[in-house]
Amino acid sequence: MSGHLISTAAALVGCRRCARTVLEGYDGGQLIRADPAPLAPEDELLALLGGRHTYDLHLMGLPRRPYLIWRCTFRLRAPRRHQVVATHECTPTQHLNAGGPPINLIASYRKQPLPEKPPF
Ligand SMILES: [Zn+2]
Repeated sequence: MSGHLISTAAALVGCRRCARTVLEGYDGGQLIRADPAPLAPEDELLALLGGRHTYDLHLMGLPRRPYLIWRCTFRLRAPRRHQVVATHECTPTQHLNAGGPPINLIASYRKQPLPEKPPF
């Protein structure tokens, strides 16, 4: 069995850009990051029209673990049997100090006098 077309269970992780919680897992060797909120059919249509892919949140194995399965045309036309999620729409948050003066990261300390008799 080849290891390059793997599918792994999705896990909730934090997005590295916007810090929101996303579902992350491999589907057919491709890393998928999806927003965990399930979509209604009309929301799925809006996501598809917006250029996002949608995935079935398929529970498999024992214990049940979620796998992201890409909704191809066959899955899109079939009746829904799983929750549907869409590709993560990342909106990076603004950095705390964007455009402001640089923050001085050097901590000041008070210089202590050396003891007359060293402790060692
Ligand atoms: Zn993000």
